[in-house]
Amino acid sequence: METCNLLIKNAIVMTDYETIQNGMDIAVADGKVLEVVKTGSREYQADKVISGEGKLFMPGLIDSHMHTGQQLLKGLVLDAKPIIWTRVMLPFESTLTTEKMKLSARVAALEMIKSGTTAFIDAGSYHMDAAAEVYAKTGLRGRLSYSTMDEEGLPESIAMDAKQAVQETDSLYENWNGKGNLKVYYSLRALNSCSDELTELAAAHAKERNAMLQAHMNEYQGEVDGIIKREGMRPYEYLEKMDVLSSRFLGAHSLILSEEEKVLIKEHGVKICHCPFSNCGKAVPDTPDYVERGIIPGFGTDGAAHGGLSLWNEMRIFRSLMNIYHGVPNRNPKVMPAELLFRMVFEGGAAAIDEVGACGRIEAGYKADMISVNLDAGRLIPSGNLLHTMFECAESGDVRDMIVGGEVLMEDRVVKTLDEERIRFEALEYMKKEGVL
Ligand SMILES: [Zn+2]
Repeated sequence: METCNLLIKNAIVMTDYETIQNGMDIAVADGKVLEVVKTGSREYQADKVISGEGKLFMPGLIDSHMHTGQQLLKGLVLDAKPIIWTRVMLPFESTLTTEKMKLSARVAALEMIKSGTTAFIDAGSYHMDAAAEVYAKTGLRGRLSYSTMDEEGLPESIAMDAKQAVQETDSLYENWNGKGNLKVYYSLRALNSCSDELTELAAAHAKERNAMLQAHMNEYQGEVDGIIKREGMRPYEYLEKMDVLSSRFLGAHSLILSEEEKVLIKEHGVKICHCPFSNCGKAVPDTPDYVERGIIPGFGTDGAAHGGLSLWNEMRIFRSLMNIYHGVPNRNPKVMPAELLFRMVFEGGAAAIDEVGACGRIEAGYKADMISVNLDAGRLIPSGNLLHTMFECAESGDVRDMIVGGEVLMEDRVVKTLDEERIRFEALEYMKKEGVL
């Protein structure tokens, strides 16, 4: 008899973005999937067994772009007058405290676990040591960044020069990179908020450490026009000139791209992701064209202040948007099929979190990052195509179990690594203090 740490018995398994197998056992050892076999074909002695009856197991969802530091802004961004960056985001972020960030990280982690998100990338916030301390205990696979910019006129509490800005990430990297499931990314908040010196310095420090570098890219027409005005070229062309583009660069959003920029992204193996709900107010990307070129974006939520942290929502919003914008005019109902959308969240997400070939599948040798969805919920069955139904109908509340790196973070909706009751209490107390309740 073989041994393993965790055995999931008799489940329906969505092993990747296009394959569903019935009556399978998943054996997990040392944080990785040992094998996925037909139930009963191999006997295992396991430290822990989870029944897969009535459940579908699938790779965990990957949030390629979120902001822990905007968690307490939920409800305050919708319908706000532009430009929200200067009117809402900056005043809020510049008044964050260590205590607020701890609460933000706790509520964000709770929402992610309950929604089926096993891995996430924080696009850059403040007081990140406090957030890292919380995230390290949750077991989630996290990629953390310090918000990095050196433009003139920032609020005093967050104003810094290029050297100070990069030092903040150096210190976050020292403290947290490689601790548990955490890694640290360097970041440029957005190119028009960063000087040449900062862009060069952040890229050099990331390269020295073989760390990823990320930035908000080509999100607004005004932002793209600003770089064209400042540099005489488009944002990705500027980054190429600065020798920043590589497969270690993640360009969040990447909505408004020229032909040349698409070529640069492909050539350099740059990773990109979209945040559909947040992006809807800005621009519609030509993603079918990206995919044809072999560029597979991941999905991000852009943080809880842009419609919550559910990637189920983001995928469905994106599918609707693509159909209206690219499908209907071209009479192509399959412009963004469910398999491709899952491929984006699993494979595009794995690339964004720097886990190509290691995350995004339930397959021997892959990290054991997976979730289960309760099929007994009346809404999901009967179904003539479970993969389509998972895409069309599954929601955060249907997620039952979560396993990350072989560790069970949630079982039957009971979160093991966080005190859910206390977090809900703290969240309500915060609302009372802010005068909302
Ligand atoms: Zn963002």
